[in-house]
Formats: sequence, C-alpha cells, structure tokens
Amino acid sequence: MRLSRYFLPTLRETPSEAEIASHRLMLRAGMIRQSSAGIYSWLPLGYKVLRKIEQIVREEQNAIGCQEILMPTIQPADLWKEGTGSGRYDDYGPEMLRIKDRHDRDMLYGPTNEEQITEIFAASARSYRDVPKLMYHIQWKFRDEVRPRFGIMRGREFLMKDAYSFDLNATAGRISYNKMFVSYLRTYERMGLTAIPMAADTGPIGGDMSHEFLILADTGESEIACHKDFVDRKLADKDIDFDGDLQPIVDSYTSQYAATDEKRDLDAEKALGDDLVTARGIEVGHIFYFGTKYSKPLGAVVTDSDGKEITVEMGSYGIGVSRLVGAIIEASHDDDGIIWPDAVAPFKAGIINLKAGDDACTQACDDAYNNLLSKGVDVLYDDRNTRAGAKFADMDLIGVPWQLIIGPRGLKSRTVELKHRSSGEREEISLESAQTQLLV
Ligand code: ATP
Ligand code: MG
Repeated sequence: MRLSRYFLPTLRETPSEAEIASHRLMLRAGMIRQSSAGIYSWLPLGYKVLRKIEQIVREEQNAIGCQEILMPTIQPADLWKEGTGSGRYDDYGPEMLRIKDRHDRDMLYGPTNEEQITEIFAASARSYRDVPKLMYHIQWKFRDEVRPRFGIMRGREFLMKDAYSFDLNATAGRISYNKMFVSYLRTYERMGLTAIPMAADTGPIGGDMSHEFLILADTGESEIACHKDFVDRKLADKDIDFDGDLQPIVDSYTSQYAATDEKRDLDAEKALGDDLVTARGIEVGHIFYFGTKYSKPLGAVVTDSDGKEITVEMGSYGIGVSRLVGAIIEASHDDDGIIWPDAVAPFKAGIINLKAGDDACTQACDDAYNNLLSKGVDVLYDDRNTRAGAKFADMDLIGVPWQLIIGPRGLKSRTVELKHRSSGEREEISLESAQTQLLV
C-alpha cells in the first residue's frame, strides 16, 4: 500500500478525551473514529489489526474442533422471556438494548448468545450421538454500558468471539471446558500476550469452572494478585494434543494462586510472601460452565443409550476480540507509538522514501516496494512528498515491525537502513540484503 493513497488520518496532537495510552494511540494512529459514546468505526489500519486478531482466534477455535457459525445481532425477546425462553429478560437490566419491530414485537440487540445457540441446538439434537458439540461465532455485541470508556476497551458495541459447548454429562463438560482453557492460553500467546487465568465467580451453580483471562497492564480495570511465576509464563508444551488428557495442564495453572479483586484470599497471599505480585489487569476472556441453566428452560435434551432423556450440559467461552486491540497496545508501546507484535501487525514493514523528489531514490523505493509485494510481503510505502521527520514519526506511531529507510546518500553505495521498531536497532546494509531479511 502506498501511503499517499492510504486513508490514514494520523493526529499530531494527543486527543484530550483519551485517558489511557491505547485509546490515545488508536486515535493518533488513525485506527478508529468515534461515532457516538462507546461506538466506533474501524478505519483501514485499525480494521486490519482487528481482522488479524480475529483470524488467530478463529484458527485456534477451529484447531480444537469448535465450528464457526454466524448468528444474528438481533434476537427475538421471546428467547429470553420467562415461559418462552431462558427467563433472564427482566434480570438483564438496562445494559440490554431493547427494540420493537414494526409489528410491535419485542426484539433486542444481542449482548451474548446463550439463548440463541441453545435454541439452534435444541431444534435438531436427538440422541447422545449429537454430543459433544462445540460451536462459536465472532459477532458484534451491544451492551449499553453505564460508563463506556477507554475507547474500544469498554465499548457499547464490541466484537466478541463466543463459543458454546454441549455435552452429555458433567465429566464430558469438563473435557470441553479444559479444551477451551488450554486453547485460550495458546490464542493469547500467539498474539504476544501473557494472559493469566483467574478463578471467577460461578454464580448459583457453584463449582470451580469459571475463569477470567487477564493480561497485566497498569491501566487495567481489575485489581489482581497472583504468584510471580505467572507474570511471563508460557505454555511449556507448544504441540498440544487436544484429544488427550488436558487436566494436568489445567491443574498446573489453577493450582497456583491468581485472583481478581472479588476472589482474593488474604491468607493465601500472606503465605506467598515475596512470591506475591499485586497488579492491575485487563480481562480479555472469560470461560464459564453453567450446566443446564439454559438447556433446561429451552429444552435442549437428548436421549442416552437407554432411551432416557438427558438435559445437555453447557458452557460458554468469550474472547473480547475488539478489546484485544487495545490490550495489545497497552502491553506493547513506547513514547513514540505502538509496537505491534509480528503476528498482529497491520503491515510487516514500512518503506520510507527520504527524498520523494529525487528520481533515483524514488526508483529504488518503487523497486523495493514492488519486489516485496511480489514476494507476498505486506508493506506500507511512505511515498509522500513530506519531510523525513514526519515520516519517521508516523512510521513509529503506527508501529510496523520493520522500517526500510532509503535515502539518496546511502544509495550512492547502495546501502539503506533497516530499523527494528521494538528493539530500536538500526542496521546499515545493502538494499538487497535488507529485502532478503524481510522475506523471512
Ligand atoms: P467486564 O467484566 O469487562 O464487563 P464481562 O464479564 O461483562 O466483562 P463477558 O460477558 O465475560 O464480559 O464477555 C467476554 C469478553 O468480552 C470479556 O472477557 C471482555 O474481554 C469482552 N468484553 C466484555 N464487555 C466488553 C465491552 N463493553 N467492550 C469491549 N469488550 C468487552
Ligand atoms: Mg467476565
């Protein structure tokens, strides 16, 4: 992409309404534009990152046999009402956007999809052969948050991946839960994040099967405490057999102390002594096992091998896809701008033409650009006729991992500069080897 043609409305000034780094940087880098409180348009650069994150989430869900579907954003209220649905229509409160259609029927903009998916499953499930099943979708949600803030971090409209599991009994349900648990660890790691699973409230059904996944960040909304080993813990085994027994991996995480404010245990913390870390965190996912809470009222039953009717056991598993864009920036930025982890970077590299008015320099830049494009490297080429200083600032701001800096002086000896955004290291090398390095 040539920057002269790209819609990248960057800002020099720091927007005064933004309280945290990710919000400031997303506005300054021209990634989003607010439409109304907590509702945003995603501009080309922001949307590209959002899609990359979404794709990682998708691949990791597919890898555990979870199947992608797409449910609507608008749901009939009957699915939620007492008698015809789950019964939580009234409890959900003012966070739910309630609408009437032209026939005066009650509808709502989905804040989540337990009811909808249970209805879909219940309509066709017959016997124990129809379970286990895992399904997910990546769809916009609406929650009329009292205080939308921090940009897309706490929006009213936001993109969520929500998956649902259907199992014959609690033992099988735990297997589904464990698959999600471990798959989440892998999903966040692929994005360059360390997410810590923390026990969360399970509500009326009790048990130990609800975890929130948080990443540590000073600007996080939750206060947390955990064992220091969690701070940059990575999955020991990269090549996980998801059909094998995942309980030992789950246990190795859940046996160590990690808790959000509602669940903190001061005695356990005291016992940890110097191993205790207290920090703030951003919730990037939440998994939850809720048994028959929705399957019972919505009639999701199957027959077992003896022909007896069994109400299926369910869980739901959310990832805040749009929140992750902000969370990654909170975890990875400096004073100059964003530092994208490779896996989610909007472009792999940027080419900076230091002298757009110089024919030889422009030719060298054009050639490098075309060569990299033809080899499948996604590059952003700053071909604008502006000062070098502004180009450096913009490229640092938008945070692409590599910068290929080409100027007339270096070209006399066919050398260019290759800058690595995260380490800040600059290397003077030949134009050819710089391009070769970007191919790997
Ligand atoms: P929170 O505690 O942050 O309000 P929640 O517990 O209401 O979140 P869940 O229903 O568990 O959220 O939703 C799953 C995931 O969706 C959360 O872990 C979070 O990453 C994301 N999410 C929830 N609410 C929002 C929001 N208003 N804006 C952006 N992402 C959100
Ligand atoms: Mg939650």
